[in-house]
Amino acid sequence: MSRTKSHEVFARAKHLMPGGVNSPARAFGGVGGEPIVFERGQGAYLVDVDGNQYIDYIGSWGPMILGHLHPAVREALHAAVDQGTSFGAPTERENGLAELIIELVPSVEQVRLVNSGTEATMSAIRLARGFTGRNKIVKFAGNYHGHVDSLLVAAGSAAATLGVPNSPGVTPGTAQDTIVLPYNNLEALDQLFAEHPDEIAGVIFEPVVGNMGCVPPMPGFLEKIREHCDHYGAVMIMDEVMTGFRVAMGGAQQLFGIKPDLTTLGKIVGGGLPIGAYGGRADIMGHIMPAGEVYQAGTLSGNPLATAAGIATLQTLKDTNPYPQLDSHTQLLEQGLTAAAAEAGIPTVTGRVGSMLTLFFHNEPVRSWDDAAKCDTARYGKYFWEMIERGIYLPCSQYEALFVSAAHSDADIAKTIDAAKDAMLAIK
Ligand code: PLP
Repeated sequence: MSRTKSHEVFARAKHLMPGGVNSPARAFGGVGGEPIVFERGQGAYLVDVDGNQYIDYIGSWGPMILGHLHPAVREALHAAVDQGTSFGAPTERENGLAELIIELVPSVEQVRLVNSGTEATMSAIRLARGFTGRNKIVKFAGNYHGHVDSLLVAAGSAAATLGVPNSPGVTPGTAQDTIVLPYNNLEALDQLFAEHPDEIAGVIFEPVVGNMGCVPPMPGFLEKIREHCDHYGAVMIMDEVMTGFRVAMGGAQQLFGIKPDLTTLGKIVGGGLPIGAYGGRADIMGHIMPAGEVYQAGTLSGNPLATAAGIATLQTLKDTNPYPQLDSHTQLLEQGLTAAAAEAGIPTVTGRVGSMLTLFFHNEPVRSWDDAAKCDTARYGKYFWEMIERGIYLPCSQYEALFVSAAHSDADIAKTIDAAKDAMLAIK
């Protein structure tokens, strides 16, 4: 497979943008080698600038649940473009998207639209602090909530630690208000709340982690967060930027039957255009300006194109209910990839919820970041490139979930499994 043009375009990009990209994961750091430069997408397929075609399991890191260039999204965008691209003023489409979110996401009574998942989580934790009058935010190691300063914080060595910055530019002062706990660890939560009963403004978490590979919550974990937030008056912030409209129509909160106080959304809610949202209990959302005193704003928030794509995507999901098919296709893929690895004698375990899946090159269940960190990432890198050569575009890191879309056909899944059989033999 020749990628001469990809190489040329990326060589230019490296002079123009730091690392040649506009977001680090795209640089293929997790697998080594050069990123592929893409030209177009159609359904389940991506085509690169050299004309090579790939079955796409990244889906723009989650948003493209309907596949690329879905007719309903395309038509909605054309109609919106013809009316003007931004007014910085109320529009009917904002109501349309807000109504769909409130209808579909069980805990959301009011919602505010922003421009990215990062803005959503940043605003939600500000609101939690403003609402409770407390400073500390709890997060979990291996959960990613965007590049918000106070959430770019990693744990120290103890089970429950005050955070330390994990990026230059995040001050120790900022990090000290973030407490990092191990995911899926109930005792650490008990201990923390017992030690800091009146200090915790909110707990933010991925209800199914996608950002250390796909790691589901263990039974009782989400319930424990709910119980402590209720008991100690902290705001429960479910970060559904990835899981929202992905693991079920109403997100992980519908799947697991747990109602958070605030929910953050992104990715699918914008149907491939830049958007984010946060919403939840009306009594908490009422503290956002201008209804309340907590400041948050945005020149392009509720943008006509983004809301048009979001409405078309959510409405199509609602009308077509692709979730049973997404689940069965992804289960087939999980079984096929696992069998391919086993045939080659390579130990793997999987994490899967609905259409989010990770094949971990590890021989024990992955439940936390400490487990995930033990994976054979070098072998994942080899597997990734063998799959690329066979026309399969997987996440370019062991620590990202793959996404199946409604556009993937039975034949696409079968072709992927066949490719994996060869790829596993090549890397054994
Ligand atoms: N929260 C989660 C769970 C995410 O997966 C991401 C992005 O991958 C974000 C927040 C940040 O969203 P964005 O990249 O749109 O800022």
